[in-house]
Amino acid sequence: MGVLLRGRTRPRPFVPGQRRGPVPAGRPGVVRGDGPVRGGASSPIGTTARRGGPFRAFRSGPRAGPDRRTVATRNGLFRGVGAERVPALLAALVLGLVAPLGAVGPHDPVTPAEEVAAAQDAPPAAQPAPVSSAKPVVLTDIPLAGPGDRRIALTFDDGPDPKWTPQVVNALVKYGAKGTFCMVGSQMEKNPEVVSVVVNAGMRICAHSRTHDEQLAKRDPATIEAEITDVGNRVPGTPVTYFRAPGGNWDKQILDVSVAHAMQPLGWAVDPRDWSRPGTDAIVAAVQKQVKPGAVILLHDGGGTRSQTVEALEKLLPWLAAQGYTTDFP
Ligand SMILES: [Zn+2]
Repeated sequence: MGVLLRGRTRPRPFVPGQRRGPVPAGRPGVVRGDGPVRGGASSPIGTTARRGGPFRAFRSGPRAGPDRRTVATRNGLFRGVGAERVPALLAALVLGLVAPLGAVGPHDPVTPAEEVAAAQDAPPAAQPAPVSSAKPVVLTDIPLAGPGDRRIALTFDDGPDPKWTPQVVNALVKYGAKGTFCMVGSQMEKNPEVVSVVVNAGMRICAHSRTHDEQLAKRDPATIEAEITDVGNRVPGTPVTYFRAPGGNWDKQILDVSVAHAMQPLGWAVDPRDWSRPGTDAIVAAVQKQVKPGAVILLHDGGGTRSQTVEALEKLLPWLAAQGYTTDFP
């Protein structure tokens, strides 16, 4: 799948046939596959977000969407960043533009074409051994640093959905919150542009199988492996470090295969059953009642009409911030 995504800022060798263009590996580029949006150490946006911390936008009062949304719509680089930060980001963008141009200046004897040719001639770069802390147990709570640590994790299942997923992402961005999207491979195949929306907003992807087969544990080993690895295979270059079993139906084999592919089995501690559309207020009340520091919260951005979930988020995100909660990835 040639989905263009902003991955983490890890050096990537040029691969012939890949659609991201001949950007020298490890350099900031301006193609959509390589932008400075994810919260890496070198990411201007990530750095800004960490300084202010999650929910920063709301602490200073919810700046009503217009300026943010206008910015986000016109240029994905500025997605979710207040208009007041645009000058700094423009500077970052200019740097991103200038650096590669400088590389082809008169003082640099290596042209991009030569670099590409060298990359094509060179043997495949050795990949570092995957480092994974995944354990074959279902994670339902974020490990906390201490009593003052009030992080929680918001997770959204069964997307990407062309209508609801962007609305969920917009709500998260508006309040400076992080979300982990447990995607279904067959949905990703239909909505590759929505996958990009999620990743470009700095959110994370969790694998949720290829077909959302809730009887996955009963399938043969090859099918189980193919279902579990499908999502990650669709977004090369974007780490997918969690797997959530369809229906939460785990067994030992599913746990083991997930961990073998460096994906932490991901469950939840809070389930407001938003998929059953119990009403926005019921979803809000259930989360308010069940949430505690560390909790992984289960919500849905796909699998049906998710208007109640979106409305609930607009109430829950400011409420959670007011209670001192911050959002994080699991
Ligand atoms: Zn699901």
